[in-house]
Parts: sequence; C-alpha cells; structure tokens
Amino acid sequence: MRLKSIELTGFKSFSKKTALEFGSSITAIVGPNGSGKSNIAESFRFVLGEQSIKSMRGKRGEDLIWNGSSSTPRAGRAGVTLVFDNADRALTLDFDEVVVERMVHRGGSNDYVLNGSHVRLRDIAGLLSQANIGASGHHIISQGEADRILSSSARERREMIEDALGLTGYLYKREEAERKLLKTAEHMKEVGALRRELLPHLKFLSVQVKKIEDATKLREEVAQHYTEYLGREDVYVRAARAELSEGESPQNERRLLDKNIERLRAQLARKHDADSDELVALERRGRDISKERERLSRELGAVEGELRAVERLAGQEGTVPLAEARSFGERIVQMAEGAHWADIGALARAFLQKISLHAGGTAQGELAQQRRELGHSLKALEAQEEEVHTKVSALRSAIESEKDAGRDAERELFAAMSRRSELETALAALRARSELLEREEARFKEELREAAVLLGRVPEYRGEMVFDDEPRSGQEDRRRRLERLKIRLEEAGLGNSREVLEEYRETSERDAFLEREIGDMERSTESLRRLIEELTETLQTRFEEGIGHITKEFNDFFVLMFGGGSASLAVVKESRLRRVASSPLLEGEEDEDDEEEDVEVEEGIEITVSIPHKRVKGLHMLSGGERALTSIALIFAMSAVNPPPFLILDETDAALDEANSRRYGDMIENLSRKSQLILITHNRETMSRAGVLYGVTMGADGASKLLSVKFEEALAVAN
Ligand code: ATP
Repeated sequence: MRLKSIELTGFKSFSKKTALEFGSSITAIVGPNGSGKSNIAESFRFVLGEQSIKSMRGKRGEDLIWNGSSSTPRAGRAGVTLVFDNADRALTLDFDEVVVERMVHRGGSNDYVLNGSHVRLRDIAGLLSQANIGASGHHIISQGEADRILSSSARERREMIEDALGLTGYLYKREEAERKLLKTAEHMKEVGALRRELLPHLKFLSVQVKKIEDATKLREEVAQHYTEYLGREDVYVRAARAELSEGESPQNERRLLDKNIERLRAQLARKHDADSDELVALERRGRDISKERERLSRELGAVEGELRAVERLAGQEGTVPLAEARSFGERIVQMAEGAHWADIGALARAFLQKISLHAGGTAQGELAQQRRELGHSLKALEAQEEEVHTKVSALRSAIESEKDAGRDAERELFAAMSRRSELETALAALRARSELLEREEARFKEELREAAVLLGRVPEYRGEMVFDDEPRSGQEDRRRRLERLKIRLEEAGLGNSREVLEEYRETSERDAFLEREIGDMERSTESLRRLIEELTETLQTRFEEGIGHITKEFNDFFVLMFGGGSASLAVVKESRLRRVASSPLLEGEEDEDDEEEDVEVEEGIEITVSIPHKRVKGLHMLSGGERALTSIALIFAMSAVNPPPFLILDETDAALDEANSRRYGDMIENLSRKSQLILITHNRETMSRAGVLYGVTMGADGASKLLSVKFEEALAVAN
C-alpha cells in the first residue's frame, strides 16, 4: 500500500484545491515560516479521522476551514482527500485505489466518504487500522512534538508504542468487546427486571391455570359420572316406559269386565221377575178353573141324582118312597151345610123342591138335557185345567232351571267384581308407577340440560356401555355423588378460563423468551469474556515481544546518534491510588501491603538513557538537542520494528547540528525503504535526501501556494 496523493480544498490556509503527489519514497515540503507547511501535516491528521481539533491547532471545526481574505471569500467547508494505491490489497477493500475523504462544515458537522460512499468515522478507522495507520498519530510527528514521546506519561507512551506495534486493531476489538459486554450486562439487567416484573403476574396466572386444570379434571370426572348416570337412567326410563305401555291390558280387561258385570246384573234382575209373574197368573187361573169344574161336577151330580130319582119313580123299579127321598135330601143338605158348601146346599134344596113339584115323565127329559150340557162343559173345563197344569209345571221347571242359571251368573258376577277390584288395585299401582316415571323422565331431561350447560356439550350417554343390574338405589347414590361433584365444579368456576389460559400462554411465552434472551446474553457474555481474555493475552505477548525489539532498535539508534552510551525501555507498573490511602508512600518505598483493591495498576513504559561521558540521571536533565536525538531514536526504533506505510515528520530535524543532520539523513534513507516519508523541513541535509520537493509560499491574499521545486529552488524557497 502506498500513498498516492493528498488534496486540500478550503482546508486552513489552502483556499484553492491543492494536490500533492507522492511519487517518491521521500517527499520534502519546504517553505518559509507561516507559509502553511504544518497545515499540510494537519490535513493528514484530519483526513485520517483526528477528533482533537486542538491537535490541529484549532478550537472548533470551523477553524479548519479557509477563513477568507480581502480578495478570496471564506469557504463553506474544508475537505481533504487522501488517495492510496491499494494494489497489494493491504486495505481490505477490493479496489486498486482507496480514496478516503473527510469534510467539515461550518456548523461543525463532518462527512466521511470512502470510495465515493458515505461512511461512518469508525468504518474508516477500522479500515486504516488494518494497515497500521492508527489514530494516535505516532506516524505523524507534528512540529515541536518530536519529544512528546519523552514528555508524555508512561501510560501515554505505552499507547504510542502499542499503536506503533500495530496493536490498536486488537485494542479496538477489545474495547468493542468490553463495550458490548457492558451493554450486554445492562441489557441483562433490564431483561432481568422485566422478568422480575412479570413474575408475580405469571405466578398469579399459573395458580389460576392450576385451578383451571383441576376444574377441567373435575369436569371430566363429572362428564364420566354423567355418562354412566345418564346411560343407566336412559336404559331404565326406556325399559320402564316400555313396561308401562305393556300395562295397557288391565285397562282393556277392566272395560270388558265392566261390560260383563253390567250384563250379568241386568240378566239377573230381568228374567226372574217375568217368570214369577207368569207363574202366579197361571196358578191363579188353574185355581179358578178347578173351582168351576168342581161346581159343574156338583151340578152334574145333582142333575144325575135327580134324573135317577125321576127314572126310579117312573119305572117303579128303584122307586123310593117320598118320605125316604126327603130324608136323604135333608141329610145331604145337613152334610153340605156342615161342610159349608152353600152351593151344594142350594142345589140340594132346589132338587128337593123339584122332587116335590115334579113327579112323573116330563122332568126326565129336561134333566137328561141338563146332564149332557153339564157333561160337555165339565169336559171343556177339565181340558183347560189340564192345559194350565201343564203350563205351570213347564214354567216351574223353567224357573228352576233359570234359578240355576242365575246362580251361575251370580258366581260369574262375583268373580268379575273381585277381578275388577284386583284390576283397580293394579291400575292404581300402574298410575302411581306412571306418575313416578314421569317425574323420573322429567328429572332425566333436566339432568341432560344441566349437563349440557355445565359441560358445554351433551355427554355421550348412549354408547356401547353395558350395565350390570343393580338396585335402583345405585342410581340414587350415583346422583348424590354427581350433585356433590357439580357443586365442587360450580365452586371451581371455569368462567373466563379461555382468556386466562391465553394470557398465561402469552405471559409464559414472553417469560420463556426473556429467559432465552438472558441465556443468549449469558452465553454472549461468556464468549465476550473469552474474547477479551484472548485479546488481552495476545496484546500482552505481542506487546512484550514488541518492546524487546523496540528496545534493541532504540539502543542501536541512540548509540548511532550519540556515538555511544545506551538507551532502554522498561515496562513499569504505575500504581494509582483509587482512594486516599492511610499514609502517602515515601519515595522508594514499595507498596507491599494488601491494599491492592484500592490501587489501580497500570502498565507504562519508562525510558532510561545513558549519554556518553555524562552522568545523566533522568530525561529532564537532557538538553534540547539531546532530547530531540533521543526522541528521534525512539521514533525511528518504533518505525523500524513495525514500519508504518508512511511517516510524517514536521521539522523533527530542527534542532540537529550538521553532524547529527547527516546521521539523521542516513537513518531517513534507511527508514524510507520500508515507509514512505513526508518531511517538513528547513534542513538542507534532509532536503538533499528527498526525491520529490514541494515548496509552499504564502501569497499576498493570505492563501498558501504549492509548487513542485528542484533542490536548488527548494533551498531558495525554504529560507
Ligand atoms: P513554520 O515554518 O513557521 O512552522 P508553517 O509553514 O508550518 O510555518 P503553518 O503553521 O502551516 O506555517 O501556517 C500557518 C498559517 O496558516 C498562518 O499564516 C495562518 O494564518 C494560516 N491559517 C491557519 N488557519 C487558517 C484558516 N482557517 N484560514 C486561513 N488561513 C489560516
């Protein structure tokens, strides 16, 4: 990597665009005092990202911008462009040319541009540190600053040496890792706080979730109980209902019975009465006919008697004396009267009269006629009587058989009535059963409804379940258990469980996420710590090695400059008390106490020199020239050990006498093999070693002018 050119526009005294080409390994810039040479050195600092305006001799960014003169107006911004030849890809950008540009505006803002793209300062710093171009500026030694390395503190020296050894990249990385570590710790704290904040809510939610889970289990239990209970109840109710509908037969049977009873009763009442009345009438008629027949019989007897008497009288045969007939008649009368047969009496009296009145033949004809007539009537009556008699006996036997039939009907009626009362009892039982079943069915429906509400679904109760027989009390027990479970479930209250579960899920996911974050951060903390350790170790080794080499080179350069003597570097631990110690340490006293906690130990670099023929005890005892020689020896030693791509020395050679100027010139030529040198000088010897010479003059308008000059011209320009 090589410096190709630098271009200044409006930077400090360079009002117009001014470019310097670095075609040689040694470029010298010459010119009178105040012409603007140092401004060029500062333009390097500026474009490489220097943040200290003071180190560029300004107070604000604005001070770096061409301030104008009577003839040239001030600029709005200052810009410097540095061009590197990157053919060797020392800068890890895949370009043959790397162009770094920085601009500062009057407002103080800065722009950084890398190969035409706006970038951040740290991008440029990162890129340049790869090529050993650090920010400490050890490769840009400003005017009067040559012995800065001598006057600075041991710690600052260490920083310069670290930079020169190309350790800034590691330091930069370590700082970055430390920054990250700090940030991670902060973030971890924040995330930890978030988790702690979340914890009570999460705890609360997990208690809720536990409750919900318990309630869910309980609900499952209820569902199982319901399934069995409802299944059994369903089977029971259906069986009972079927059984009841089979029980319709008593109803029918009772209806039939009622009809039968009615029929039997009617039958029993009706038949008996009718037959009795008929019998009574027949019997009465029979008696009447019998009386009439007896009367006619008597009348016939009387007629026949009279007729016989008449015949005896008329034929003397069998004639009865009148007195005898009379006494017979009187005896019959007496007999008849005794037997109250009034009619017979009357008939006999009439006979007797006739006997007395009629005697002889005429009476005989009439009597025969009478006897014939009576005989006919009697015969008719007898037939009638016979008929009635037959009827009565027929009726009687009919009544008898009817009475038998009635007894059967009565028995039947009785049986029917007793059966009916049995049926009534059975029906009452059925009605009671039916009412109970209705209540049971209603309760079954109610349980179904409740189950659906409670479980959010109707349980599958008509499954493949097979139930063993058990007494009805089994279901009652089951129902009581179910009631108890339902109460527990209702108390558990699954109200807004979905929201709670959702919130729990979200919260625990968030917590898990935060936990993972903490885990990630712990791992990244661990790897950062390891990285820091490794970097520290690398730095330590490289630094120690580097110090060894630099010390050797330093001594060589020193001996060369002073023609003898010796110089060395030593790493020292500088202890800085963090707080006021009990008693200040006396000089030379070692702090061996166990107060280390209160002491910050820093490593620094101490310089020891020994000038020939002089007993020099400290750097402060050196003359100005000796200081310049010592610092040059050290700067050159550093550059020799880890050659920077370029080195800018602003009048480092100012205090050298002729002999030392020569030695200086030799060393420069030596260094230029490894590093490009840009030397601002008034020293003739130095100028003579340069391949390219630039002369800077100050114009009447207060602006610097640059021109390429030859050695002889340079001598003229420089003075
Ligand atoms: P010497 O040889 O004495 O060290 P030099 O050549 O290094 O001098 P510089 O110090 O670079 O000179 O230049 C200083 C000059 O630059 C001064 O004249 C100063 O007025 C001028 N200058 C500095 N800043 C600005 C600015 N912002 N605008 C205009 N001129 C400026």
